[in-house]
Amino acid sequence: MVDLNASIWEELDSAGRDVHKWLRRLLAGEEEFREGMEIVAEDISHQLSWYSATSYVLPHLAALCKRLSPENQVFLIAQMGAAVAAESVSPLEENTEAWREFQEGLTGLRPVVVDLIQNHMDTLKAAPEEDRQMFVIGALAFLGDRKHAYNLLDLSGSCWEECPGACTCGWNDECIPLSEETEFLKPVRIAPWDGKSLTDEAVWVSGLFSCLGDDLILPVLPLVYGDGVCPECGKRESYWAWHNRFFQEE
Ligand SMILES: [Zn+2]
Repeated sequence: MVDLNASIWEELDSAGRDVHKWLRRLLAGEEEFREGMEIVAEDISHQLSWYSATSYVLPHLAALCKRLSPENQVFLIAQMGAAVAAESVSPLEENTEAWREFQEGLTGLRPVVVDLIQNHMDTLKAAPEEDRQMFVIGALAFLGDRKHAYNLLDLSGSCWEECPGACTCGWNDECIPLSEETEFLKPVRIAPWDGKSLTDEAVWVSGLFSCLGDDLILPVLPLVYGDGVCPECGKRESYWAWHNRFFQEE
């Protein structure tokens, strides 16, 4: 954990370029927790971009999180999903200081996410709808594939009604419908969740959305975790590969 008085904070990037000042106020209890947390999270997740300050913020939040009520822990994880997921679009170089700080933050916060999912379902169910939805995406960013969390956030732009895809042959489509059947997307059957296991990502993410009563993202999961079949060349591959290629070639 890097002290908030260290000079590196002046060089780190955040949307407002002053996240350490807000983090200091949050940690000192000078801000109402949720208001302060929202400001810090917005400063490092604005427009779904990656900010170098995120790595250095995370260990401080992991230390803070231990002192929070389960309700506020849910809020913190929900708020931080986008910032953590964004690392997948600018992956950190291993064994750098930024990478070590990021890993320290993840290591500190992952057990909190697991504990909330496995032991505090009532708290999760009582959270407001948007917090419940963002908590699941946050949990995916902390415990699963950060790119998948990022892609689900990206699809929020169409309210999870459309998705982009591109095949190796050059075919692409910006608006593949997710809300109605299409011949391009082959849904995968997602097995029921036992409420505890966190090994099969599609199963626990889908199960968690289902437990929390989500009806926006849950219906599209069999499609985005399924396959795409190219209408031009017939090649079949995972939808996530289609999604990632669409943005690589942009
Ligand atoms: Zn093709």
